[in-house]
Amino acid sequence: MKAVVFHGIGDIRLDEVKDPSVQDPTDAVVRITSSAICGTDLHMIRGTFVGMRPGTILGHEAVGIVEEVGRGVRNFRRGDRVVIPSTIACDNCSYCRSGYTAQCDDANPNGAAAGTAFFGSPQAAGGFDGLQAEYARIPFAYHNLIRLPQAVSDDQAILLSDIYPTA
Ligand SMILES: [Zn+2]
Ligand SMILES: [Zn+2]
Repeated sequence: MKAVVFHGIGDIRLDEVKDPSVQDPTDAVVRITSSAICGTDLHMIRGTFVGMRPGTILGHEAVGIVEEVGRGVRNFRRGDRVVIPSTIACDNCSYCRSGYTAQCDDANPNGAAAGTAFFGSPQAAGGFDGLQAEYARIPFAYHNLIRLPQAVSDDQAILLSDIYPTA
């Protein structure tokens, strides 16, 4: 697939990369139909957000169609149209159950005190591959996908990934 890949500060390229796949039972793979560029991406490109591993796919705002789900994802199926929130959360830890999903204890592989995990991130935020790509792997997909009604267009829904909640 094609994806926007971080190679180094000031060096971003549209590359041909391996398609993502379901790795954990709670993953989904989504075919991205719309993706956005964010001011946060500029931090990676300028180097003001350090610790980006070269090869990481950028982007954390997207709308798409579910392509595949792991056996642990029972509330979505192939063909569902979804918006993907920018941050990643488990929905099970005490923070998530209190509604503070951006403080999730489990989504960031660096541990409970490591802070918010998000797509297209530096290593400290999990180093997750992002959403400026033709396909994306979504961890904890039962929680990190939001189903969209057909009446809501991609251009409307993309605002819900990050732009509107951040505002
Ligand atoms: Zn953003
Ligand atoms: Zn959590």
